[in-house]
Amino acid sequence: MAKKIQTPRGTQDILPEESYQWLYLENEIRKIFNRFDFFEIRTPVFEETELFARGVGETTDIVQKEMYTFEDRGGKSMTLRPEMTASVVRAYIQHALWNQGAVQKLSYISPMFRQERPQAGRLRQFYQFGVEILGTPGPVADVEAIALAMEIFNHLGLRNLTLRMNSVGCPKCRPNYRAVLRESLKNVKGRLCPDCQVRYDTNPLRILDCKKEICRKLTEDVPGIEDYLCEECRGHFNAVKNGLKVLEIPYTSDKRLVRGLDYYTRTAFEIVSTELGSQDAVCGGGRYDRLVFELGGPDVSGVGFAAGMERLLVIMRKNGLPLGEPPRPEVYFVSLGENAKTAVLKLAQQLRRSGFRCELDLAGRSVKAQMREANRIGALFAVIVGEDELSKNEAQVKNLENGTQTGVPFGKLPEFIRRDQ
Ligand code: ATP
Ligand code: MG
Repeated sequence: MAKKIQTPRGTQDILPEESYQWLYLENEIRKIFNRFDFFEIRTPVFEETELFARGVGETTDIVQKEMYTFEDRGGKSMTLRPEMTASVVRAYIQHALWNQGAVQKLSYISPMFRQERPQAGRLRQFYQFGVEILGTPGPVADVEAIALAMEIFNHLGLRNLTLRMNSVGCPKCRPNYRAVLRESLKNVKGRLCPDCQVRYDTNPLRILDCKKEICRKLTEDVPGIEDYLCEECRGHFNAVKNGLKVLEIPYTSDKRLVRGLDYYTRTAFEIVSTELGSQDAVCGGGRYDRLVFELGGPDVSGVGFAAGMERLLVIMRKNGLPLGEPPRPEVYFVSLGENAKTAVLKLAQQLRRSGFRCELDLAGRSVKAQMREANRIGALFAVIVGEDELSKNEAQVKNLENGTQTGVPFGKLPEFIRRDQ
């Protein structure tokens, strides 16, 4: 036998027994996107590497360790997108979307790629849904982005989630805090993990985001950024918190929350679940007032979030929340004889055009086996056609839920099935 090939490590097939749940989720998420008046954007799965190097940030884990980067046949460096914000901003600039409305509200549900160590809730290809609001520095946009994320989780039935909030300041006030942080970690620098010792020099805020136990311990008592925010950042943060209060969205302040990406300014938030073990974040987001400009666009602000579909699914399954139903055909055609088989093809076409999900025997089964198959797949009706029925232009329709059987003229099948189901 030929050698079998498996999915690459950290990736998965989504089979029919599960794909209906994904469709359900995507559907429900899009409903809420629509209610908030967002428009979907689709961008290429790969981009020039430079986009992420500049847009996510050279000092981030994503750029330094996690990207799928390859040279294409023309020798250009390309990267499978590890996140969506940089791509959305690239598209916003490329197509001058600000000409199509001062504020652009874009949503997506798309696969992302990061070469991380696979574990529960951490894959190498995973799906994110998220939004970006581009073109306004106002705190109302932050509130809307957070409210939208919470509304989706709420709509799906999730309850025990915590919203964590922080502000990471702006280029005006962050340098002060950076200095304060370095000063307070000066004496323990040598005991931080090797990555954090580098971060101490390149990007000390990132130390607060380190997942290593030792770094968490050593940074337990560092001063929070809140006391070092400039007037404008403090005002913005207060306005966002007020908006959340008005919407009755509870949150906790978390001075350690700095998020993984370099381009964030002011609002940073994360939504975590207690049910995910160490991979506890389902959603992360925040404001980025510098990114559009840094990527060659006008000096406008953005705010958005991204949430992980696989982690969302884990929580929903754990809590037994509704995830849709596997689709069941309304009709399974049972045919006997060559003429009936041909007639059934035509009847199926008609019923399908009337909107019904129909199945017929493709495997040359006996009548008995076809009936068994109709029951196995959960069809609502078996529509039985043999020589007798053909001569009368009438099928025997068996309601498989209650066992009743009725003669129905071919032309009346759609009507009957609609009425009787
Ligand atoms: P983490 O701290 O868990 O690595 P992150 O800060 O890297 O998360 P973001 O870049 O903010 O995550 O992505 C937003 C969301 O996407 C996360 O909250 C998570 O739900 C999901 N996510 C991120 N990386 C992965 C992954 N490798 N596999 C599955 N889901 C992921
Ligand atoms: Mg990560």
